Amino acid sequence: MLKLQDIVKHIACRVIILLNIALILVYASVYPDDIIRLPVRLVASQPYISEYDIRTLLPVQSSFDILLQRGKVIRGPRFTIYTVGMSVALAGDMLLRSEYPVTRMQGEILIPLDIALPMITILLEGYSVSLQGNSIMVKKEAVGEQEKPKDIKPVPHVSKDAIGFIVVDAGHGGKDPGAIGKSGIKEKLLTLQIARQVALELQKRLPGVDVVMTRTTDKFLELGERTEIANRLLKKGVNGIFVSIHCNAAVVSKISGFETYYLSQNPSNEEARTTAVLENNVIVFESPEKRKRYSDVDIIEALMLNTQIQKESFMLASAIQKGLDKNITEFKSKGVKKADFFVLRGCLMPSALVEVGYITNPKEKGFLTDTNYQKKLARGITEGIMSFIDTYNKTVLNN
Ligand SMILES: [Zn+2]
Repeated sequence: MLKLQDIVKHIACRVIILLNIALILVYASVYPDDIIRLPVRLVASQPYISEYDIRTLLPVQSSFDILLQRGKVIRGPRFTIYTVGMSVALAGDMLLRSEYPVTRMQGEILIPLDIALPMITILLEGYSVSLQGNSIMVKKEAVGEQEKPKDIKPVPHVSKDAIGFIVVDAGHGGKDPGAIGKSGIKEKLLTLQIARQVALELQKRLPGVDVVMTRTTDKFLELGERTEIANRLLKKGVNGIFVSIHCNAAVVSKISGFETYYLSQNPSNEEARTTAVLENNVIVFESPEKRKRYSDVDIIEALMLNTQIQKESFMLASAIQKGLDKNITEFKSKGVKKADFFVLRGCLMPSALVEVGYITNPKEKGFLTDTNYQKKLARGITEGIMSFIDTYNKTVLNN
């Protein structure tokens, strides 16, 4: 038989449990668990956010390509891409910039705060993201019936920086000879000679701008490595230009002339498409895992960047072609064209590919091997680049 005392004890016990549940419910409503705090880490007194914290604390998905040292953070249709060692990251069609690169410390990836904050803001639509003290605070925005008209979202400011460097890329090299002329002359040799002349001319006429060559010897470089060299030079306050030098080839030897390309998924015409296919053939020399990339991340990147950088790339290609038109009278100007060149994909700055002439045309090949003509080409390309920088920097200063 139950004593009254036991019954009271039993009831008291239940009441305490119920009270506890009530307390938890009240607590949960006051401190909703959708407030997420990401601590800022200081490394060499620079603020970073840990990629691990982003991946584990936020409602996002992520992946990391060890080969490329490139990570993706995804939420629904939105995603961002960062690369270890690079001071810029992609978010949608925007380029986020920092003065410091994404780094790796003891296996952990650290993203500079000035990249991480806009990155999280862009990914987490419907959340309020703010920097409070030494943390990024992420809070789900309340969806009430009488929701106030939404404030205009603080869109991360994307700075347009003046051109501080030019990367001159000599097409092909090493085990990849490029096109081969009838006499056995290889494109890789001519592109290197002409790229050298371009670099010299640029250094002479643009002393304030850094000029970097992707190769200065007969060395094999994968297509991705070429733009990677350029992308790694980007940082907050410094933009750049990427120019790739090539010689064209045709089955019909009488075809001649020079043309400048910018990247597009839609080639200008059949000839432009063929030129791109020829230049893209180099991927047969690349490792199979890397070859796979051209159908994945790089395509996505290329698509994303179309809107932002394509216009500038068109401006650059047009200026270069104009510069060549002024300097070269020996052969036909074939104008500005667009095509899908893998080497230009994933380039995070204005870029162009110059086909300086046909190695398969005996007369033009003769000129292409002549130092004086190479210098003329270099002058044309340099004047084009100078005119582009002039216009570009003016729009930067006006913004
Ligand atoms: Zn080529």
